[in-house]
Amino acid sequence: MADLQLLAASGSETAARIASGNVSAGEVLDFWLERAAGDPLNGYLWHADAEAARTGVSADGGALSGVPLAIKDIFCTEGVPTTAASKILGGYVPPYTATSVARTAAAGLPMLGKTNMDEFAMGSSNENSAYGPCLNPWDAERVPGGSSGGSAAVVAGGLAPWALGTDTGGSIRQPAGFCGIVGLKPTYGAISRFGMIAFASSLDQCGPLTRDVTDAALLLGILQGRDEMDSTSVGIEGGVSAPSAERLDGMTFGVPRGLIGEGMEAGVLARFEETLIRICELGGEIVDIELPHAGHAISAYYVLAPAEASTNLSRYDGVRYGLRASDEDLLSMYEVTREEGFGPEVKRRIMLGTYALSSGYYDAYYGRAQRVRTRIVEDFDKAFGLVDFVVTPTSPTVAFKLGEKTTDPWSMYLSDIFTVPISLAGVPAISIPAGLAEPDGGGPELPVGFQIAAPAFGEQKLLEASYALEQAIGFDGSPGLEGGSP
Ligand code: GLN
Repeated sequence: MADLQLLAASGSETAARIASGNVSAGEVLDFWLERAAGDPLNGYLWHADAEAARTGVSADGGALSGVPLAIKDIFCTEGVPTTAASKILGGYVPPYTATSVARTAAAGLPMLGKTNMDEFAMGSSNENSAYGPCLNPWDAERVPGGSSGGSAAVVAGGLAPWALGTDTGGSIRQPAGFCGIVGLKPTYGAISRFGMIAFASSLDQCGPLTRDVTDAALLLGILQGRDEMDSTSVGIEGGVSAPSAERLDGMTFGVPRGLIGEGMEAGVLARFEETLIRICELGGEIVDIELPHAGHAISAYYVLAPAEASTNLSRYDGVRYGLRASDEDLLSMYEVTREEGFGPEVKRRIMLGTYALSSGYYDAYYGRAQRVRTRIVEDFDKAFGLVDFVVTPTSPTVAFKLGEKTTDPWSMYLSDIFTVPISLAGVPAISIPAGLAEPDGGGPELPVGFQIAAPAFGEQKLLEASYALEQAIGFDGSPGLEGGSP
């Protein structure tokens, strides 16, 4: 019985039980280590044992002490293998720990394991992992989303109470939406990127994947802040606290109608419209807005992110990290290592990015994409002059089937149509579950995410509005919480 209560509890509820002496931190850790060890989803790439889980963890960390955390395998962890789901980092053991992980350890959170992901965070389905795809706990024939698919799946599937992920163009929000949990991408600069393996440095942010909005706020409170080791980190002024709003009176929610509709599943659209009605019932106001350049966001992103990736990934040369595939001369060692070490999507991005940055094409591609990004930043500035929040579905569809989009990169890229503009603007956004819907092709119902974006560093207001809405929606649908395997 105690086990079932732990399985169903949020992070904050578990922390409260530990604090009241109802259950010990040791019992909580043992319970979750056993759950994680039985992973039927390929959600974990590395499992901690009790000793590793506690390494570096403060015994007196504060209010959340003792609630174990799953960590995306993109965060460097001293002494623990870190692969970013790439063969090229096979066998790599970092000599230092990412600031985010160090902060959660200082807050008393043991590490359960490292979670599966798309290679170097490039993807929307977790199918680009060199270690096999992770499965969606709602339907094992479907993807959990990506790139933080493992982190979302283990939380939704009852294999971790909460998790860390990263989001460059949607990688926290989209998998949270596909798995029926909460995912928050903070403002660019809210959290240190030190020790997070770089994909596109001007976009990458760390964030929480949790069962509820309160947990997202509590984890963000631990993670955010200035870090000497990342000059782009500034933190959130005034910090972050647990939200408590019950109403949305006086708050305005902008709907970019021009973006919504085309290519969307009927069930996703229905849950979206219902959620707008709930916002009105809670006293909020819906306003139609325009984001005139957001329709170009995917095109700009797929120039900018690969351009940054092509330079960030040049460091994997067989000399300094992980795999070395040949002992011939230096040049062929580079070539063979990169040929064998990188998967097809990563190679596609390196080629795209290198091309976009090449001297003859720099202005036509990279320069132009940067100008589009500036227009999108201006679109959001204007929108937030009119409304408090911008809302969209998190993704145009529910979780799709494994293999459904792997041969068509463009259709895969389109699953981030609502998340990418926000990443380019650098503002914070959350995905909360808005209910379940049948996929267009029929079949069992699957979670639908509702995305809310706020002005830069408006996280507290964003969390308050999300909390009020979450209470009203009352989503209750974690597939793995019956005590058995998902
Ligand atoms: N799916 C997007 C991509 O493939 C976003 C990934 C991310 O946010 N890391 O680039």
